[in-house]
Amino acid sequence: MDKAIDKTSCIFVAGHRGLVGSAICRRLMAAGFTNLLVRTHAELDLCDARAVDLFFGKQRPEYVFLVAAKVGGILANSTYPADFLRENLAIELNVIESAWRHGVKKLQFMGSSCIYPKMAEQPIREEYLLSGPLEPTNEWYAIAKIAGIKLAQAYRHQYGFSAICLMPTNLYGPYDNFDLQRSHVLPALIRKFHEAKKLGMPEVVVWGSGTPRREFLHVDDLADAAVYLMHHYDDGMPLNVGGGTDITIAGLAALIGKTVGYEGKIVWDGTKPDGTPRKLLDVSRLNALGWTAGIHLEQGIASTYEWFVNSRWVEKGASSMATHQSA
Ligand code: GDP
Repeated sequence: MDKAIDKTSCIFVAGHRGLVGSAICRRLMAAGFTNLLVRTHAELDLCDARAVDLFFGKQRPEYVFLVAAKVGGILANSTYPADFLRENLAIELNVIESAWRHGVKKLQFMGSSCIYPKMAEQPIREEYLLSGPLEPTNEWYAIAKIAGIKLAQAYRHQYGFSAICLMPTNLYGPYDNFDLQRSHVLPALIRKFHEAKKLGMPEVVVWGSGTPRREFLHVDDLADAAVYLMHHYDDGMPLNVGGGTDITIAGLAALIGKTVGYEGKIVWDGTKPDGTPRKLLDVSRLNALGWTAGIHLEQGIASTYEWFVNSRWVEKGASSMATHQSA
């Protein structure tokens, strides 16, 4: 533990095109790592055990960030439960088994804060995992992710394989999903406020009551923690990664409105669900290891907004607002 990883070590980032994987690649490159190994889904299907094993046998990566997963919101989860369970289980099983078999020095598996019990005490400590029933709408995804954590722990226990698991809180940042039907609240509100401002709309409709509290972590902070922990953490206990503070949805909406420069009204749509009243991770173990989040929410929203306005989500004349708000 605590040994510097050679800058020329071969590091496989599985899932490099997603929100988290792309941030980890940026962080590794900024830190001077020169030998990143990536594959698109078309080049390597992580659900194909044989292909994954051949890949590891040939490429021989030394370190692995396993952040590839089938992800989606409440609607996708409940429509395609078999796909969520099967694909995530297959990715985890294939990558962890091949990594161990082909001598990977260390593997980091990305869990999620949404796999803790639905009614977990707040702030959520790592040991609350598997201490109560899950949120039924995403239990397929949660069961698969919990199996991934258990696989990592089992390989560590039985074979001495150095596998660690991170439990990130709600993430946001560049390359997030801004599709209003599928996205999480932060990107959804960036898009809604931006379009309302552009179209001169007098009000923006925000879901729920505004009272639930959520914690948000910029994905560049997560990537920084991921690289830090690859160096400095080697234990079977999953580790929460968050900023340690939360904010109400009303507070978040006000902050995003201010960043975007929208001056109209916020209207609360009480027909939409609030979800769990609070979701905050206890990050005392992470802080004790010497890492704390660095990107302030206001600053993170500003840079994410800047990314959004220059992204494919904002095309000339395109708007989702009219259809979405009347839906
Ligand atoms: P959760 O953390 O799993 O509940 O996921 P979300 O990010 O989807 O929702 C967080 C909170 O934001 C909930 O209380 C939602 O009702 C609220 N919210 C307000 N407006 C929106 C929106 O436009 N999209 C989403 N996804 N959530 C919204």
